[in-house]
Amino acid sequence: MINLILFGPPGSGKGTQAAKIIEKYTLIHISTGDLFRYEMSHDTPLGMQAKEYIGKGELVPDSITIGMLRNKVESHPEAKGFIFDGFPRTIPQAEALDALLTGMETSISALIALEVQDEEIIKRIMLRGETSGRPDDSDESIIRNRIEVYNSETAPVFDYYKQQNKSYSINGIGTIEEIFDHISEVLDDL
Ligand code: ADP
Repeated sequence: MINLILFGPPGSGKGTQAAKIIEKYTLIHISTGDLFRYEMSHDTPLGMQAKEYIGKGELVPDSITIGMLRNKVESHPEAKGFIFDGFPRTIPQAEALDALLTGMETSISALIALEVQDEEIIKRIMLRGETSGRPDDSDESIIRNRIEVYNSETAPVFDYYKQQNKSYSINGIGTIEEIFDHISEVLDDL
């Protein structure tokens, strides 16, 4: 199994690259952001809880997020591997993911981080907000909060997997194809 974490700040291009990776490597794509947006659009209890945090640019609590992720992984017993997009975003989420995969007799193969500077991210997300319909993409102070949360709570996950020699850093500026080529180089060496 290849289990990949696609990592990087909001707006760094994770979703775009994930779509290309699953095409080439037949992995199951799990985006916790997409899962929350699905729940919110259907006004489920989980969606209504998540909305309170997402609307402020905060993380949804681990107690909610980890259970949702676990259910999704367990609903794909046939999977050849997974690509985790937007998860883990905290150290406890990373520990829970490792424990889940260990229970399935597998593990994370690599974490690929897309590097993009803060000011570029704000520009990209504001632009995306014009068409995405996402309220969390349209307000600069909410976007700045998401970046702050990323730097304080999520960035340490890179070092957590670096200690396991699994973290790779890739320049997230360039064409979609150039970035994908760099990701492919890492994956083909695994
Ligand atoms: P982006 O990468 O552009 O921030 P996502 O779609 O990954 O967008 O996430 C949107 C929002 O959903 C996040 O700002 C956060 O509030 C919530 N969210 C997504 N994944 C997680 C997670 N693993 N833990 C906590 N909250 C999450």
